[in-house]
Amino acid sequence: MKFLRRESKVVFVGNVPIGNPHPVIIQSMTNTRTYDGEKTLKQIKELANEGCELIRVGITSEKDLESIPFLVNNSPIPIIGDIQYDYRHGIKAVESGIHGIRINPGYVADKEKLNAIATACKAKGVSIRVGVNSGSINPHWEKVYGGVNEKSLAHSALDQVKSLEECDFNNIKVAIKASDPMTMIKANRLFSELTEYPLHLGVTESGTSTMGIVKSSIGIGALLADGIGDTIRVSLTEDPIEEIRAAKRILQALGLRKFGINIISCPTCSRTNIDLIELVKKAEKMLENIDKDITVAIMGCPVNGPGEAKEADIGISGGISEGTIFKRGKIIKRVPENELLSTLMEEINYL
Ligand code: SF4
Repeated sequence: MKFLRRESKVVFVGNVPIGNPHPVIIQSMTNTRTYDGEKTLKQIKELANEGCELIRVGITSEKDLESIPFLVNNSPIPIIGDIQYDYRHGIKAVESGIHGIRINPGYVADKEKLNAIATACKAKGVSIRVGVNSGSINPHWEKVYGGVNEKSLAHSALDQVKSLEECDFNNIKVAIKASDPMTMIKANRLFSELTEYPLHLGVTESGTSTMGIVKSSIGIGALLADGIGDTIRVSLTEDPIEEIRAAKRILQALGLRKFGINIISCPTCSRTNIDLIELVKKAEKMLENIDKDITVAIMGCPVNGPGEAKEADIGISGGISEGTIFKRGKIIKRVPENELLSTLMEEINYL
């Protein structure tokens, strides 16, 4: 499936390009203490290994800054420093070789200070991510638009962009986040028409994986389906590894990126005579690291199985204590239930 993607500028974080026509990039954030360089690097490597392409680390103290050169020199992926209130941390992080920074220009009210960060970033070719969420809306726009909504969010983001542009800085990407997916969707749709800066998408405070993935899939997914969004983070109250897995699934489900085998399976019904739920779970595990651009169908019965899944490259359909292996809708083998997975694997190896 191809979407018409929003035109955007391209900015770089380290060697990773962000913006149309480059792929939508997956990012996450470490939850270790940044000053613990070894532990933070270990987490960055684990996340990169899972598919994370950009990583954000919190910088809240001088102690955190001391780890930056070590992280930058050893990380397999570019690092974005998340700066809170002290603009000097941003400048020092840039001088320490950080690949990108995230600031909230609203917190750097002094123009000279903002200009100092922009100048430091410009000198090193470092991009800045600016953003707003419901907690950092400009009170003026909140008053004008009657509270936290898409208009007050989008116009607050635009203010931040303009503040940096006034510093002659435009190496910018923008994030507009909200915990309510619909507000986040509407705000990004509105903002996407106001500028050409690349957009980072995410639903904040979305919760644990149970609800968080649903909210993120709605918020991020709806925008990506509109062609809006150049990098994403699925924020979850979980191990960040789960954020990467969820992000990959969202991009794969939309057909925007490929991350190995696409598994489709039926929901089971009264015609199912094999332990399909268990079979699919095992198949997911077995196939998770196989890098083939194919679709595998695992269906409960032969009645609708191969027919319903004829677009799949290969598949299983269950019978009574046995099943069939089919390729593009045509049955090629009949095997006992306990040999279904191993036979499927053998056949996949030939594809
Ligand atoms: S494929 Fe067969 S078992 Fe699965 S839902 Fe459809 S009819 Fe039911």
